[in-house]
Amino acid sequence: MNSKKRGLLIGRMQPVHNGHIEIIKQILEEVDEIIIGIGSAQLSHELKNPFTAGERLMMLNQALAENDIERNRYYIIPMEDVNRNALWVAHVKMMTPPFKEVYSGNSLVKQLFSEEGFEVHQPPLFDREKLSGTEIRKRILNGEDWQSLVPQATVEIMKEIKGAERIRNLNVKEKSEII
Ligand code: NAD
Repeated sequence: MNSKKRGLLIGRMQPVHNGHIEIIKQILEEVDEIIIGIGSAQLSHELKNPFTAGERLMMLNQALAENDIERNRYYIIPMEDVNRNALWVAHVKMMTPPFKEVYSGNSLVKQLFSEEGFEVHQPPLFDREKLSGTEIRKRILNGEDWQSLVPQATVEIMKEIKGAERIRNLNVKEKSEII
């Protein structure tokens, strides 16, 4: 039996947006299975990292179902940071099925994996000015349209967990800490 070609994509996904889903679909045209790491899994309830790993996992799971991506083609694995970059690739390998390809637009991620001999690909960014977690969190704070930039699953889970309210509260909290 031929071994499967697997690719890894790691992202904080704060929150899951349409750019993540597009790139996952594109990677699945190149590999048999994709391993999606939910990065900085230990972080939540910060303006830059508002959602827990469990909430992000729910968003991703439902967004992939919404896009008819077959359940046997992906693994979703929450991945905590480690405080030594030189050990991070070993930590990721320990937590994941075997893979040879890595897809990332993040320069540190690319450097760490290529130094360990992985095949690193830089996938194209779709509509990056709008499709970024930073832009979506900013729009939520400003009361602007963000719903059109994310899958329906993210909109629904944000409602369930009162995600927009959380971001607004975190903004008040973090601003008061600066002053
Ligand atoms: P991110 O959610 O911003 O992006 C993840 C990936 O999604 C990107 O690399 C890009 O390929 C894709 N993407 C994002 N927007 C897109 C768009 N508009 N179109 C197409 N593709 C798009 O996450 P990130 O910040 O790159 O995540 C890296 C994670 O790795 C972080 O959690 C970081 O902490 C972790 N990390 C940890 C260590 C350590 O623990 N020592 C070291 C390096 C990285």
